[in-house]
Amino acid sequence: MSSYIVTREYPRREEYDVIVVGGGTAGSIAAIAAAREGAKILLIEKYGFLGGTATASQVTPMMHVKIEGNPASSIDRKIRKHMIELGFGAKSPGGNDGWFNPEMLKFVLEEMVLEQGGEILYDTQFVDAIVLENEISGIIVHNREGTKVIEGKIFIDATGDAEVSYRAGVPCFVGSEKSGKNQAVSLRFMVGNVDLKRLETFLKDLGQEWGLNYPLIEMAMIWNKGFPLEKVFKKALEDGVLEYDDGRYFQAFSVPGMPGVMSFNCPEIPDVYNSLDGAKISYSYIKGRKMIKRLHNFLRKYVAGFEDSFILSVAPMIGIRESRRIKGEYILTIEDYNNRSKFDDGIAKTAYPVDIHGEEEGEEVIPLRPGEYFEIPFRALIPQNIHNLLVVGRAISSTFTMQSSIRIQPTCRATGEAAGIAAAYAVKNNIGLRDVDGKIIREIMRNYGADL
Ligand SMILES: Cc1cc2nc3c(=O)[nH]c(=O)nc-3n(C[C@H](O)[C@H](O)[C@H](O)COP(=O)(O)OP(=O)(O)OC[C@H]3O[C@@H](n4cnc5c(N)ncnc54)[C@H](O)[C@@H]3O)c2cc1C
Repeated sequence: MSSYIVTREYPRREEYDVIVVGGGTAGSIAAIAAAREGAKILLIEKYGFLGGTATASQVTPMMHVKIEGNPASSIDRKIRKHMIELGFGAKSPGGNDGWFNPEMLKFVLEEMVLEQGGEILYDTQFVDAIVLENEISGIIVHNREGTKVIEGKIFIDATGDAEVSYRAGVPCFVGSEKSGKNQAVSLRFMVGNVDLKRLETFLKDLGQEWGLNYPLIEMAMIWNKGFPLEKVFKKALEDGVLEYDDGRYFQAFSVPGMPGVMSFNCPEIPDVYNSLDGAKISYSYIKGRKMIKRLHNFLRKYVAGFEDSFILSVAPMIGIRESRRIKGEYILTIEDYNNRSKFDDGIAKTAYPVDIHGEEEGEEVIPLRPGEYFEIPFRALIPQNIHNLLVVGRAISSTFTMQSSIRIQPTCRATGEAAGIAAAYAVKNNIGLRDVDGKIIREIMRNYGADL
């Protein structure tokens, strides 16, 4: 994708040290981290709140990184602790302190950005990048004021889709290397007025032995995987209440600070494997809502606890697991997973498994044993071609199979913190991003308390 040719003069805004595009899971943290280092930052977000997939797509809880103690970057840890203190977060008996209330996360993230002196521009869509000699000089955005240019020294692409990178001419990958297909998309929803105690008893009586720690409740069903709920799904299928697709992937969690609410990690939309196709994504919302109506009708009729429940909300943003990924200075591959790679410039560590939704199988994996993990190097955040840009979140430089492991929220947050620190460091020291030593970024993260 070539850079934008500015054919007309747009009004320009004041220049910023660091502009973060996308106030989602990783972008909010990048903004907090850069502002904490004293940089003058602007955070641009297309919705009217922060959190991205965690809030707009209602993806709760955060997954455990599967390393003893659930290690985290410092801002991530602060958010988890704060959410628990406020009653909007919880730690499961299994040690996952990443359960959270997505609605309240919006408040907490916004307060943290503002507390650090960051500026937020909501309802603003990034449109294109203006590139001069391998540097982004400004970005073109659209909001209620119209179309305008905003200039900055360093940019952080936190759009999840590597949108800024792609527009600026960074080489990108899309989907599986074999088929080009992306992972499946899901339209999440929440159901209110659920009697969680009755639900817990119902699931226990069915034979479910995991995830039942009232008020933290989990339920799941995937055809032919031996879930106790399968017999209930089968009956509803025979009765014509459900369709086969409804049970391809079904999962739900209760939500801390929202008594009587279950948040559903489904429905997974059948046959949509191009998350960058506008028409397919529109279809996914329509199809998803039909499936949600059917699933809720099923729950009320067949699952104890849901009798008097109602659909509380459908996520305003479809859940995209994977779309575009940048080609960076380092490309994480499944070899790094299988070799348990560690790096001098490692800025995150995880043992989360390869977790691909949809049709693709992925590459051969040697499962991690307890105590084993791999790291993400800072270089995976540095895109090729453009010198004043970093990429964070699910779009960092990796292969399809590897992305399915590193896409979880704690890891996205760690990439955000690393990029925010690095961007501010480059501005403070008046050096290019490529001259920033990733080992120093790791050290700064450690000094703030990251488990690295
Ligand atoms: C259905 C589903 C279930 C999942 N389950 C879990 C789970 O249980 N636990 C877990 O830890 N992880 C889970 N994940 C993974 C995880 O939630 C995501 O990978 C992660 O949140 C992505 O973070 P991100 O910062 O890269 O992107 P996002 O959080 O999506 O942030 C991108 C932000 O950029 C904004 N944006 C995009 N384009 C523009 C633009 N042009 N202009 C302005 N703003 C823009 C968006 O509005 C958004 O706020 C799941 C993901 C999905 C989709």
